[in-house]
Amino acid sequence: MKDSFGREIDYLRISVTSRCNFRCAYCGAAPPLTEELSPGEFAAFAAAFARAGIRKIRLTGGEPLVRQDLPAIAAAVKTAASPETLAVTTNGYDLQRFAQPLAKAGVNAVNVSLDTLDPACFRAITGVDGLPRVLRGLEAALNAGFQRVKVNAVLMRGVNEDAAGALIELARRYALDIRFIELMPGEDDPAADGRRVTAGEILAEYPFLEPLPGGGETAEYYTAPGFLGRVGLIAPVSRRFCSDCSRIRLLSDGRVKPCLGQPETYDLRPFLSDPGGLYEEIRRVILLKPAGHRFSEPGGGLPPMNRIGG
Ligand code: SAM
Ligand code: SF4
Repeated sequence: MKDSFGREIDYLRISVTSRCNFRCAYCGAAPPLTEELSPGEFAAFAAAFARAGIRKIRLTGGEPLVRQDLPAIAAAVKTAASPETLAVTTNGYDLQRFAQPLAKAGVNAVNVSLDTLDPACFRAITGVDGLPRVLRGLEAALNAGFQRVKVNAVLMRGVNEDAAGALIELARRYALDIRFIELMPGEDDPAADGRRVTAGEILAEYPFLEPLPGGGETAEYYTAPGFLGRVGLIAPVSRRFCSDCSRIRLLSDGRVKPCLGQPETYDLRPFLSDPGGLYEEIRRVILLKPAGHRFSEPGGGLPPMNRIGG
């Protein structure tokens, strides 16, 4: 359905947990939410969202693969909501074990977050000595038959700004998309602006990247001769895309969050046993979706991402 600004809201991101086995510095380390919905509860909510026009669903976190029942959640959501795309965003640490079960459960796209191919830098960013294991997870994803595998990287000046070249090489060698996402400011994080590497800076550094037609998507895609995959640039800060936003977010405890960059949430749990009321409440919340984020305003940064799922 359309929100009050005429945007078609058809993309639901479900955070299945706010727990995580990594400690990425830019992500925020809020204590995890105590309550987590069951596969059946996620499915009931997903069905109501589908009735309100949701066509694409992403399972994220926290780290979604810390939930051992993630394949059961995926299968239940798929059956209840029949989305055109069912995707998972993961840090990849447990993906070697989960790639096949997720594909069998009906997941058709996987995003792996990976900010560097240097083991020491990886440890410095995530707090975990896990690069080889994540790379095995990525390989398992490439072999599991998903329609699309994407790698998402956040570049930070003075931390991993030199990682772009090796990450772009992945798109030359493998049929995957490597996407660079601009660092978004956390709460009380005025230094983020200085650390952010913008989409424009990446393009200036790699002039061989040729733009691909398309648009309307949050990412702008590029390729180069001989590449099997694509390079994507996602610029929420320097090229704000709120006017095209199609997203709504469900948190792991059953609250719905209409905008990543605004604090408001609305509790859907009171409507769990009332499908008609749940549908009406979802429509009401979609109509309350604000015009956009306030990253450029004082105090307008992101709440902790581990609770929201990006
Ligand atoms: N744990 C999973 C993962 O890392 O892919 C899923 C959740 S994580 C919050 C989703 C995405 O948010 C990751 O790709 C991460 O890099 C991104 N992210 C977290 N904090 C960010 C920030 N301050 N700016 C930009 N992206 C951020
Ligand atoms: Fe965990 Fe993902 Fe946040 Fe890193 S970005 S701390 S892996 S939730």
